[in-house]
Amino acid sequence: MNKPNNGTVRNWINGVWTDHAGPTIDVINPATGQVVTSQPDSSAEQVDSAVSAARSAFSSWRTVNPSVRAQHLHAIADQVALRIDELATAVTIEMGKPLDEARGEARKLVAALHFYAEEATRLRGSIVPNADDGFSSLVEYEPIGVVAAIAPWNYPLELIGWKLGAGLAAGCTMVIKPSEYSPGSGLLLAECVAATELPAGVVNMITGAGQTGQALTQHGDIDKIAFTGSGATGAAIARGVAKATSLSMELGGSCPLIVTETADLTEAVRGTLRRAFRNAGQICISINRGYVHTDVYDDYLAALAEGATRLVVADGLQTPNADVGPVVNQEIFDRTTAHIADAVQRGARVIAGGGPISDLAPGLFLQPTVLADTDQDMLIMHEETFGPVIGIARYTDLDEAISQANSTSAGLAAYGFCRDLGQTFTLSKQLDFGNVAINNVDAGIINAPYGGRKGSGFGVEHGREAIDGYLHVKHTRIRHGA
Ligand code: NAD
Repeated sequence: MNKPNNGTVRNWINGVWTDHAGPTIDVINPATGQVVTSQPDSSAEQVDSAVSAARSAFSSWRTVNPSVRAQHLHAIADQVALRIDELATAVTIEMGKPLDEARGEARKLVAALHFYAEEATRLRGSIVPNADDGFSSLVEYEPIGVVAAIAPWNYPLELIGWKLGAGLAAGCTMVIKPSEYSPGSGLLLAECVAATELPAGVVNMITGAGQTGQALTQHGDIDKIAFTGSGATGAAIARGVAKATSLSMELGGSCPLIVTETADLTEAVRGTLRRAFRNAGQICISINRGYVHTDVYDDYLAALAEGATRLVVADGLQTPNADVGPVVNQEIFDRTTAHIADAVQRGARVIAGGGPISDLAPGLFLQPTVLADTDQDMLIMHEETFGPVIGIARYTDLDEAISQANSTSAGLAAYGFCRDLGQTFTLSKQLDFGNVAINNVDAGIINAPYGGRKGSGFGVEHGREAIDGYLHVKHTRIRHGA
């Protein structure tokens, strides 16, 4: 194997790090504005080589015993565990997440890979009764084939890793495209895979921007597309597939929070701070908008503003335990400031933060911002911001708050804080979202299915259920006469 990643990211196709003579795309550290590496802007021909490698590897990988697939997954997890700091540093440099948080992501990836290793050994089918004597019907699940896995940059390790874990557990082969904002951490993950005995071609990784993704998703020899990213890209992919192709779409959201008059306010504020500002608000399940009962509105807002003001915003490489790093690119920086300006112009009050931190320019740093007295017409209350800002509205009637929470096209995650059993079940049943977290803000855990609905997509990651998306079903009816 030739040497990977010596400054420039390379493609990994059929077990070989391939040299690239064509155009490249720079990667910029959002905390400093400096170029940190560059990556191949892979062509349709390079995509085709990766898909061909995955296709040819599939014919034998699909028959590998699940217990052996499990050993491979455990081995990949072990390699990742050896390189936590290196992987985390790449994540911080490329997309700005503070180093301690990036280490946490790498450790969670290790746990996810071990989880899917174990699940690989538990795949099973069933025997279905027949109306006729002397027949048996076997229902079995088989790997779907070659998977195109396309990831965004906000959790650049985990969002590749969940697909890798579930796909390999099922017996699929994969062509993975990391985001053009985070190819270095993606390729380090490929190095971890390359350091194991996994057969060549089972996993391939190619870099590039939207055109490379398009060449991959429109390739005629792909059996499944596992996509995480924005709703607009998801819709473009769905429109462009070359043939009947299995799809899973983990898309964006505008996640609401409801704080009722019975809530533990200390916990509600702690949870809001974590889920609105972690990763600079660049999480698909970030709380974008809050609806707070009028009886606790002022106390909640005062504590939230104080907490937001105390958050440490810094370059997460220099200050590994910073609370908030830069946002990843100018587009998010501009959208966040535009959402703040829109809300203010329509009558919202800024009670913490409010805009850019000019002392840290050219780094793309924004103050954690709390907007009070918002209403549903403001962009912050119905569009995904993906930046460190939250809008808070007052409510008096819980049904009305739930109706506003449900009123957008988003269906990924919703949050509630309350200590009343009736309110708890009302929130759980009435919130029209794939994930509802009550009195906590960690809606996604590896053991349970995690997916969106409505404009936030379909299909799930996490849990045993994620593997189902990489399998198809076969019914064999046998006339044996017994
Ligand atoms: P994006 O849609 O711009 O890009 C995602 C990936 O798609 C990248 O690898 C990109 O190169 C590729 N791509 C772009 N155009 C393509 C095309 N036409 N065909 C194929 N691939 C194409 O999203 P982003 O800015 O990287 O990520 C942010 C978005 O992702 C947010 O909306 C966020 O909510 C969402 N997200 C969702 C989840 C979830 O689990 N639901 C998790 C993380 C992020």
